[in-house]
Amino acid sequence: MKDPVNILKEHDLKHTKQRVRVLEEIALDKSAVSQPELEKKLGKEIDRVTLYRILNIYEDKGILHRIMDMNGTANYAICSGSCSEHHHHDEHVHFNCTNCLKIYCLAVTIPKVKMPAGFKANAVSATAYGICENCNAI
Ligand SMILES: [Zn+2]
Ligand SMILES: [Zn+2]
Ligand SMILES: [Zn+2]
Repeated sequence: MKDPVNILKEHDLKHTKQRVRVLEEIALDKSAVSQPELEKKLGKEIDRVTLYRILNIYEDKGILHRIMDMNGTANYAICSGSCSEHHHHDEHVHFNCTNCLKIYCLAVTIPKVKMPAGFKANAVSATAYGICENCNAI
């Protein structure tokens, strides 16, 4: 796990206690963390508006990427090292477990998708649905 303070330094962001806490929560988890989950975990320390603002800054800076789950809830995961401000390169497959509802970033690259003439894709995403390794182990 990358040190949250180092991540902030790399992106020229001042580190406040709240910013570090948000990154810690997300970096610690193997799966992506949903916004309601973050609100529940950090609610005592960070109000909703501040949390929302911090998540937006992180997404802008290429620190976190957002994945929508099958219910339309935003989930956040740490970006791969190649993301930069306004340019995300998280073109890996996401896995949405239909049992525990967690989303995982998989180390699986999305195969090149050929677009029809006239269509220019800036990003391609792929989500697989099924049962994750944790739920399969039970
Ligand atoms: Zn990214
Ligand atoms: Zn699961
Ligand atoms: Zn991801």
